[in-house]
Amino acid sequence: MLLEVRDLYVEFRTRDGVAKAVNGVTYSVDAGETLAVLGESGSGKSVTAQAVMGILDTPPGRITGGEVLFRGRDLLKLKEDARRAVRGAEMAMIFQDALSSLNPVLTVGDQLGEMFVVHRGMSRKDARAKAVELMDRVRIPAARERVGQYPHQFSGGMRQRIMIAMAMALEPALIIADEPTTALDVTVQAQVMELLAELRRELGMGLILITHDLGVVADVADRIAVMYAGRIVETAPVHDIYKAPAHPYTQGLLDSIPRLDHKGRELYAIKGLPPNLTAIPPGCPFHPRCPRARDVCRIDVPPLYRVSEERRSACHFWEETVDASSA
Ligand code: SF4
Ligand code: MG
Repeated sequence: MLLEVRDLYVEFRTRDGVAKAVNGVTYSVDAGETLAVLGESGSGKSVTAQAVMGILDTPPGRITGGEVLFRGRDLLKLKEDARRAVRGAEMAMIFQDALSSLNPVLTVGDQLGEMFVVHRGMSRKDARAKAVELMDRVRIPAARERVGQYPHQFSGGMRQRIMIAMAMALEPALIIADEPTTALDVTVQAQVMELLAELRRELGMGLILITHDLGVVADVADRIAVMYAGRIVETAPVHDIYKAPAHPYTQGLLDSIPRLDHKGRELYAIKGLPPNLTAIPPGCPFHPRCPRARDVCRIDVPPLYRVSEERRSACHFWEETVDASSA
């Protein structure tokens, strides 16, 4: 297994008390596989990824339990310099906002080239040639002419391609993309997502795709992990989820995306708000918003029930949820 996150816990100190951002998350990604991690903002999906990358703000963030095994080594036990060596070369991250992740006063060629100068000891001249090659690879037209331009001279979609080029520069085994297309308009979103999927295939990388939008993952993900209140509430192969979700929260997410086959039907929105992480509701954390909730849900925390070999659901009533959604 390329990456295994085991029973991870992360807390943040806030003025209102301790926010329990990640509460026992377990997931894994294999080489060549795409795992989509889905959830609303505040579900813990980004914080989990930051803990994996070793870029959690500490303090106020603190990992209070668990393991992050990368090719069998627990990254949480490494010293910062060893950690830094893993970052970039073996795993890399793509963020939502390319403009604030790129340095505005350096040309894109210099920023891309820097990876090869720092990690591979290349000369500036060779690094620049590599930068052009990378820009070609992520299909930025006229790469040779544009390599000397600054980030603000590129469109949002092109900047996101530059971020992708940066992430894959050293051909890492794992890429984590955190809402990589959220800031882009819909057609550009699809192009960028396609590019990411294609490069993942070519390079045989593992990909963790973090998103709040179930609509963007259908064509690119192999498996989905749905997060709520810092926990995984459902994990399954992507086609199983689309066919019949086994958790009412997943069901709600699914019903809230526009679908061609449901034309004319009104879009559903999950009622209520995600919980305050300093005061997560007892029992099933989703119960205040759940249309299926009953007494036991307010008391007993649902474990991740085994639905099938490849599928788990943290709902006491997963069976009726599956039945209802496949009806
Ligand atoms: Fe809803 Fe209860 Fe299932 Fe939680 S355990 S998702 S509240 S039915
Ligand atoms: Mg986020």
